Amino acid sequence: MSYIEPAPIKDKENPFESMMFRFSIAAEKLGLNEEIYNVLKSPDKQVIVSIPITMDDGSVKVFEGFRVIHSNIMGPSKGGIRYDKHVNIDEVKALAAWMTWKCAVVDIPFGGAKGGIKCNPMEMSSGEIERLTRAYTTAMSGVLGPDRDIPAPDMGTGQREMAWMMDQYSRYHGVTVSGVVTGKPLILGGSLGRIAATGRGVMVSALTAMEKLKINPYNSKCVIQGFGNVGSHAALLMEERGSKIIAISDISGAYVNEKGIDIEKAMQYVSNNRGILDGFAEADKIDGEEILELKTDVLVPAAMEDVITLKNADKIDAKLIVEGANGPTAAKADEIIANKGIMVVPDILANAGGVTVSYFEWVQNRLGYKWTRERVNRRSDRIMKSSFNTVYDISTKYDVSLRIAAYMVAIDKIAKAYSHRGGF
Ligand code: GLU
Repeated sequence: MSYIEPAPIKDKENPFESMMFRFSIAAEKLGLNEEIYNVLKSPDKQVIVSIPITMDDGSVKVFEGFRVIHSNIMGPSKGGIRYDKHVNIDEVKALAAWMTWKCAVVDIPFGGAKGGIKCNPMEMSSGEIERLTRAYTTAMSGVLGPDRDIPAPDMGTGQREMAWMMDQYSRYHGVTVSGVVTGKPLILGGSLGRIAATGRGVMVSALTAMEKLKINPYNSKCVIQGFGNVGSHAALLMEERGSKIIAISDISGAYVNEKGIDIEKAMQYVSNNRGILDGFAEADKIDGEEILELKTDVLVPAAMEDVITLKNADKIDAKLIVEGANGPTAAKADEIIANKGIMVVPDILANAGGVTVSYFEWVQNRLGYKWTRERVNRRSDRIMKSSFNTVYDISTKYDVSLRIAAYMVAIDKIAKAYSHRGGF
């Protein structure tokens, strides 16, 4: 169809272009009409703010903050806020769109958004981060809201920042509004199971895919890149289900032990070691990037975008890739991975367990009620498994990858919702 631009992919991978490339393929397969294609290809709103903060030494530093609302066709927009020194508008735009697709794939009534502040939280004091978080929340107070746009943790943020955001938003409005963010501490209306939720969804996706590939978890090896919230919980839960975790990694490097790494021990080590694996002696240390090329059954990239690229795609030696991070595979690498016969459970499906439990948190906040951990886990496992099966069936029916099938499932739902709501 002529109105679908063939999304140029330049030399340097760019997450927004990677996202658009897959979106265009799925749109074409679906025969998406021009109106909705144009509506979805650009975000609804992009807000950029400058936030001056008094640092501990008395100097004033100005930080750049972003919030991109990609779409609210399916409901209030939802998506995390990341604190990272490399955050930029193109990245946030891609991440916001991925949230739209992700929420639609798992069928929760949210649109997509993402936020970020360009900063290095590792070099900032807790007081500086608190002032920055409160100032960002105030600057975005017209954008956020429990029925409007609901942030959550992402890279560099967690329960602590969500508590400050909830508090700041509530002060601003003069009432406690717990449903304005998710991923809060339990005592402030957080949900049981939220911390492990993304990693748990990765595990459910991996096991469901392994069943299709006839890989017995008890005879399987698993490699996990990234040992933050997503990677560490995915590793722990995969280990619990019988898989041998032969390598893990973080910014300090990669750690390999063919006999299997005791993940609980590694998590304990990290929590006593400034949050990093540096010096972990239960495994051999190798270069961080090499972890992706190890021979394994399951590879879980759970660190960041664009780690599987043209440079290393042909060296990947796994049967299954389960994308714990958002956008870990650059669009250009898709074909190489597919030609090698590797199954990829795409990010918008594999890591949707986090936003699914965020939705449960929001529901609990609205009910003023708390669910048990069992209820949360049971419901999110069910959603993850049935979403996988829906995507799998579409991929078989249209003879496309799971990634394109996941985009098709999402875009089709949003297009249907849009056709009822309409535009101006
Ligand atoms: N940041 C997470 C993600 O990328 C969670 C988003 C949310 O819970 O709203 O999926």
